[in-house]
Amino acid sequence: MLKFRKASYEPGVVEFGNGSFAYLQPDGGWGFSNSGLVTDGKDALLVDTMFDVPHTRAMLESFARASDARIGMLVNTHRNGDHCYGNGCLDCEIIATARAAEEMKHETPRGIARLMKEAPGMGLLGEYFIHCFQDFDFDDTNFRAPDTTFTGTLTRHVGSKRVDLIEVGPAHTGGDALIHVPADRTVFTGDMLFIEGTPIMWNGPVGNWIKACEQIEAMDVETIVPGHGPVTDKNGVRRVREYLTYIRDEAKKRYDGGMGAFEAARSIALDDYAGWCDAERIAVNTATLYREFGSKDTPSDVGTLFGWMAQIWKDKK
Ligand SMILES: [Zn+2]
Repeated sequence: MLKFRKASYEPGVVEFGNGSFAYLQPDGGWGFSNSGLVTDGKDALLVDTMFDVPHTRAMLESFARASDARIGMLVNTHRNGDHCYGNGCLDCEIIATARAAEEMKHETPRGIARLMKEAPGMGLLGEYFIHCFQDFDFDDTNFRAPDTTFTGTLTRHVGSKRVDLIEVGPAHTGGDALIHVPADRTVFTGDMLFIEGTPIMWNGPVGNWIKACEQIEAMDVETIVPGHGPVTDKNGVRRVREYLTYIRDEAKKRYDGGMGAFEAARSIALDDYAGWCDAERIAVNTATLYREFGSKDTPSDVGTLFGWMAQIWKDKK
């Protein structure tokens, strides 16, 4: 039995009554991502797999109880493992943006499995890794890479339902995509939206991410399924856009004033967003913004950035 954390919403399948479904994993923090299912008659398209095989199997079993449609296509919204490491549980076509597929080659489950084994001897950084990823099993992850890639927009059909795959990255990662189902007035946003959790910007530019939020806000949709957190509406999108605008402006003031990126990350007040989990991601966001502003000495390597997050996490504990 999988364990989920306490949150404002329940784990499992949400049915929207139009043939679209979401599968939610509270609390939406590190690794606890969402999946989507678009069905028409006997046909189905799956949006994202989970971080490991047990969580992916639980998701597939839950969807199978909710719908007897057969999954003929899987779309990965982006490269992060919590959206694609379970790909090996499916034998259908897998689709992602070309950028996401390229990035998946460099972020394999083997790396994180090794890291988790070494974590107990790694001091604060190891303690933080364990805090983030202890609920997952990376040992028997049977990863499958995408078979089909696209740039820009790709349209597919599920039964007679049109599904638009829309590239909006680079933003959260290098190759982010939205999955829009016009007939269901539903969009699956991947990690363009974290709801009740702190967005993390590995790649930027921030302008692309803000533009993606505006694009979602302009869609004729009523159901918005984020990559992490509960199902939301356009107010949820606006809040994410406001967070990104706020941290961009606060980081810029500090950059212009000559403050270093880590000090800047520690000094940005997150009062309006205090209820969102994983607030320490401000460290990655500030570093990414600093590099975008032109900083040459702000680190981009994941190890250093996790170290920064670990320190902020420890200070807040
Ligand atoms: Zn994610």
